[in-house]
Amino acid sequence: MADVGTGDAETFEFQAEINQLLSLIINTFYSNKEIFLRELISNSSDALDKIRMESLTDQSKLDAQPELFIRLVPDEANKTLSIIDSGIGMTKADLVNNLGTIALSGTKGFVVALQAGADVSMIGQFGVGFYSAYLVAEKVIVTTKHNDDEQYVWESQAGGSFTVTRDITGEQLGRGTKITLYLKEDQWEYSEERRIKDLVRKHSEFISHPIYLWTEKEVSDDENDKKKKKIEEVSHEWEHINKLKPIWMRKPKEITKEDYTEFYKTLTNDWDNHLAFKHFSVEGQVQFKAILFVPKRPPYDIFDTRKRHNNIKLYVRRVFVSESNVDIMPEYLNFVKGVVDSDDLPLNISREMLQQNKILTVVRRNLVKKCLEMFNEIAENKADYCKFYESFSKNLKLGIHEDSQNRTKLAELLRYYSTKSGDDMTSLKDYVERMKEGQKDIYYIPGESRRAIVHSPFLEKLMKKGYEVLYMVDPIDEYSIGQLKEYNGMKLVSATKVGLKLNETEEEKKVKEEKKHSFEDLCKVIKDILGDKVEKVMVSDRIVDSPCCLVTAEYGWSANMERIMKAQTLNDSSLGAYLSTKKTMEINPDNEIMKSLKKRAEVDKNDKSVKDLVMLLFETALLTSGFSLADPNVFAGLIHRMLKVGLSIEEEDDAEMPELEEVGDVESKMEEID
Ligand code: ADP
Repeated sequence: MADVGTGDAETFEFQAEINQLLSLIINTFYSNKEIFLRELISNSSDALDKIRMESLTDQSKLDAQPELFIRLVPDEANKTLSIIDSGIGMTKADLVNNLGTIALSGTKGFVVALQAGADVSMIGQFGVGFYSAYLVAEKVIVTTKHNDDEQYVWESQAGGSFTVTRDITGEQLGRGTKITLYLKEDQWEYSEERRIKDLVRKHSEFISHPIYLWTEKEVSDDENDKKKKKIEEVSHEWEHINKLKPIWMRKPKEITKEDYTEFYKTLTNDWDNHLAFKHFSVEGQVQFKAILFVPKRPPYDIFDTRKRHNNIKLYVRRVFVSESNVDIMPEYLNFVKGVVDSDDLPLNISREMLQQNKILTVVRRNLVKKCLEMFNEIAENKADYCKFYESFSKNLKLGIHEDSQNRTKLAELLRYYSTKSGDDMTSLKDYVERMKEGQKDIYYIPGESRRAIVHSPFLEKLMKKGYEVLYMVDPIDEYSIGQLKEYNGMKLVSATKVGLKLNETEEEKKVKEEKKHSFEDLCKVIKDILGDKVEKVMVSDRIVDSPCCLVTAEYGWSANMERIMKAQTLNDSSLGAYLSTKKTMEINPDNEIMKSLKKRAEVDKNDKSVKDLVMLLFETALLTSGFSLADPNVFAGLIHRMLKVGLSIEEEDDAEMPELEEVGDVESKMEEID
């Protein structure tokens, strides 16, 4: 290139994953190549946002080039297309890092997604949009000038390396970036003015900076006219091609569905349509206009807490000022995307000021309110809500935990499978409508999966009484229910905790008291055998078929919670001991096993088989109640001993099977070693 650089070219190797990405982009058969322009314009727009934001606190940052623009120059003669912006530009270090040597998580992510059959147009979501230039170009030259550095030129034909050269003799940009694409032979269409104009209309209409196209104008010379020779001359001018008012400033009824879709895509880089949106203006104390969108699915890194999700763009009087979602939306709504434009905020607002700003607090409150309205609208369509809930139920539950002001409203959005819900999920409202006469509480059972709890002993009595029980199988469920506590004045009660009280007739109560009394001794015997393993042994209210179950304290951890906590502290085994929950054993006086155990214990409570049976019942109850076994070998040992009894094999001696206490209680064994 004659007009580029005179400095010495430095050559750099592309980082391995970027190389892989480039070769996929170049070699994958893909027809929708036009998306490259949207990606490059979007980068320019971001660069312009950045310099404008810097200039809000330091006006002099714009000195080198006061005008903010994107210019497109299609050149049919040379088969090139240039995209020029007066954005923030890149320093030499930026060029080397951003365009070739530092791979971001999205680089790998996109390679994997592509290999799994993802669409190339998803590229923007993975933050590697620049490389889409190679869909249409065989060579790309990036000329760029940052306020803090000289002008540099980056050049590459892919193929493993790129060069960076100091640009002394080339046309000086002042500030910003010029990307020139040397089009592949079968992509020459992108050097045509008409094609580019259509593309901008299609994909980039909603970019908030002006986009100018270098347009050919036919002018007839007056002189020539007079001579009737009519010689036409060709001249060029910049044509502003995205002249529409920002979409959020327009009246909703003048905006088509397609407009909203295109705007959503421009805003988010999503390749897919949105699931729902809300376009509104708030008047009164604080005035602002906003459009909010719910995507169809969460981004691949939604719960990556290291990543800030900047999903709401904040404008002040049409000027973009901030992308900091943190201040303007609560964390749990980090999946909602959109724009907010307020006339009431100062333009040169700093991040610190934003956080304390009262106006912003009002904006925030209103945005949350509108989000909840939008979710309720989605809920009117079952299929849509299903999709929504699958993607974002965790966020709603997080909201229950975090947002006490909106807890009640959020509770309306919850859905659970239940003993009566069949294939659909049920809302709490529908649950309440189905409640049996006399039922006062809402029952739920936590667990690892629906399969693991549908046959749980905890459900027996509740089911027999015809009470519906909600399955809470999401790890976050118990946290959020712990905060919610009640719905419409009805308590949310866990079927697995102490103190489950079911409505009973006088007759039932009397029978129960009698049974309690007659099993009192057995309870004592069992408690003596189990020792510290259980807090208490008592006659149960809640089981019908099973011999016994283990319940936890009302405000303590459930078995499910214990499982989750243990999984989270897996590598710290010493913590395991602190984490075990206080358990109460409930026994079923109507169960045959319990009845004969009672008889046997009455004959001789020191009978070895009573001890064995109680231990076995305890270990089995751990399993059926959702706990894990402290030592599966103890359990297996007990089963084997029972098998021998069943097969009438004589027990050789106590030597073969050590005393239960010795193997059973790991802690006491450790004490001995100490
Ligand atoms: P991203 O999604 O981050 O834009 P890209 O691969 O498209 O990913 O671009 C990589 C980085 O290169 C950008 O984050 C930005 O720092 C820089 N960059 C790309 N285009 C421009 C531009 N026109 N002006 C300034 N910086 C740019």
